[in-house]
Amino acid sequence: MTPASGSDSKGKPKGYFGDPLNMPVQYLKGIGPARAKDLAKQGIATVRDLIERVPRAYRDYSRFKHIAEAQNGQLESLMGTVVMVQDQRVRGHLNLTKVYISDGSGTAAGVWFNQPWQAKRFPVGTKVLFAGTVERRGAQIQIVNPEWEIIDEESSSDPLHAGRIVPVYPLTGSLNPRDVRRAVHFALQSAVHLMPDTLPPAVRERQGLMAMQEAWRSIHFPDSEAQKERARTTLAFEELLVLQTGLALVRRQTVAEQVGIAHGPEGEVTRRFRASLPFRLTAAQERVIRQVAADMESPRPMNRLVQGDVGSGKTMVAVAALAKAVDSGHQGALMAPTEILAEQHYINLRRIFAPLGVEVVLLTGSLTKRERDANLGLLQMGAAQIAVGTHALIEDRVAFRDLSLVITDEQHRFGVRQRARLQQKGEVVPDVLVMTATPIPRTLALTLYGDLDVSVIDELPPGRRPVGTYWRPEASRKQVYDHLMRTEVPAGRQGYVVCPLVEESDKLQAQAATEWYERLRAEYPEVRLGLLHGRLRPAEKEAVMEAFRRGEIQVLVATTVIEVGVDVPNASMMIIEGADRFGLSQLHQLRGRVGRGNHQSYCVLIADPKNAEARERLQIMQKYSDGFSLAEKDLELRGPGEFFGTRQHGMPDLKVANPIADLPILERARAEAMRIVEEDPQLLRPEHQALRAAVKARLGEQFGFILVS
Ligand code: ADP
Ligand code: MG
Repeated sequence: MTPASGSDSKGKPKGYFGDPLNMPVQYLKGIGPARAKDLAKQGIATVRDLIERVPRAYRDYSRFKHIAEAQNGQLESLMGTVVMVQDQRVRGHLNLTKVYISDGSGTAAGVWFNQPWQAKRFPVGTKVLFAGTVERRGAQIQIVNPEWEIIDEESSSDPLHAGRIVPVYPLTGSLNPRDVRRAVHFALQSAVHLMPDTLPPAVRERQGLMAMQEAWRSIHFPDSEAQKERARTTLAFEELLVLQTGLALVRRQTVAEQVGIAHGPEGEVTRRFRASLPFRLTAAQERVIRQVAADMESPRPMNRLVQGDVGSGKTMVAVAALAKAVDSGHQGALMAPTEILAEQHYINLRRIFAPLGVEVVLLTGSLTKRERDANLGLLQMGAAQIAVGTHALIEDRVAFRDLSLVITDEQHRFGVRQRARLQQKGEVVPDVLVMTATPIPRTLALTLYGDLDVSVIDELPPGRRPVGTYWRPEASRKQVYDHLMRTEVPAGRQGYVVCPLVEESDKLQAQAATEWYERLRAEYPEVRLGLLHGRLRPAEKEAVMEAFRRGEIQVLVATTVIEVGVDVPNASMMIIEGADRFGLSQLHQLRGRVGRGNHQSYCVLIADPKNAEARERLQIMQKYSDGFSLAEKDLELRGPGEFFGTRQHGMPDLKVANPIADLPILERARAEAMRIVEEDPQLLRPEHQALRAAVKARLGEQFGFILVS
């Protein structure tokens, strides 16, 4: 056959000769271009997509009842022979179709409103199944909009729509449940035998799992509740096994197989840094610093995550690690997700290190070429020991003379891939320390950072009082601002005003912030206001931040650019406008900018929320001040995906597994993954080929590692 010349857009494709799993869904029986488009809206393009999209729910129509025994209000499956079909008009415009079936014990009607075509489907004498919620009045039994199935020879052995546990899928456009179910059925028939068996047989046996093909079939059309559960466990396990295997490989490539730098013991820089501290480190800080130091002294590359709530003092851990690198005669780098934060760290580090004779340089994307070249020169010569920067640090050909330590701050924006890239910068593999304020329950830490060791700073510096958090309606705005401008500011405190969120663009957001600033300036001319948004040039941003730090600016009107890292202990009040439009984790980060000194601090959330979930978020913010409780609440509220923004982590979407609810499966999958990678580090054994292919296909790009083939 020759390809059709000038393909006919309306005509059905003549045939498909590629891999059946990759066949576009529109070639499936009963789908066609219109329904294919509706499926595409759900991200389903191929037969494989159709198989891999698990049902969103099930209805159990597996228990047949004699019609006479059908109970009012129950979900039932009734089977019988069509005895009569009625099509009637009621109240002028309403069309009522009733199809009566009988099974000898009684009669029941399937009822449809305004779907006269339904009548034609059920000629008298046809054997059918109706399933749905029974409405019974005396002997009159009916099901409105029943799931139905015509029982012919084929379907009596394998019904799809009734008389069984029936899968329910999300619907869009013109899709109806029957079409989708049928499409999935055809997809399974034509291609499920080609779905790879990613689970090595030994793992499958040890874990009591199904074969993958059986699992795919059963997740869509289970014969029983138990079979469905086993299928789900199998698929969740497989998904987590692939992920954990990927993480184990990354870990192996970055840690186990590489030689790192063995740093020396505590030296002069560290001692002088400690002596210069105006406060005592908390026990938690000391413990984490010890763990980091032990990693750094070991010749194995460090790969450690430090978790600590906002304000817990993570920067001190970073400084201690950098001091150790310098003491050992090497260089260290600190990376931050935003320029503001990088600049802030730069100023802090310079203040700490300059008196100790240690040179710190800044490297961000927006330095002038001359500044940049100068700083690069210092690093290459080894005249500067510490570099602070944004992503630009890893994105360019920044060459250090002797880089031994890379720290990334607020790491929730750096993925596995970026971490892996970091460790390719130096000649020997530098130690990597990742710091995050995102409170990650152990379950998710395993999912997201399975390649890292974890330390937790579980204590705030002494004297911190929880930030008093109040949700106020817009009608109270004046009062709230008066408190900030006329009570806090005259008492010598400072504050932040976070502008309403504008999603459309940076530019509109900057405009909105500017307008807000102008309004406040007109209203409170006696207060020294500053403005900070993402469209300012770096030098301008730095000038504003510096003025705020010195107290020349009393109230800073800002966008969420201040979300992370900004540290001005004298700031005691924050007003967040349009607070209902922020997520919990973002509100918590923002609130973390106040309550950093010894002054009682306040955060006022101004919002007139329109939906219940937003109201709940605001109430949660009022009630909880620590990140871990908030994270738990948020997980309850929204499920794991959104809170942690797995996309930001560069993690694949999980289609079946739920990293919170499936913790036991996750832990088993992790143990198996470590065992596999331990025994077969390149996944070269025949029984690991399918797993290897899956790891490559699903994670290769995100994790940026290469499996030598
Ligand atoms: P985060 O963990 O949010 O990055 P920072 O490192 O910015 O926290 O520290 C928050 C504030 O607490 C800073 O002003 C810092 O100087 C101060 N700080 C850190 N450790 C201590 C401590 N042990 N005692 C008192 N203040 C501390
Ligand atoms: Mg910080």
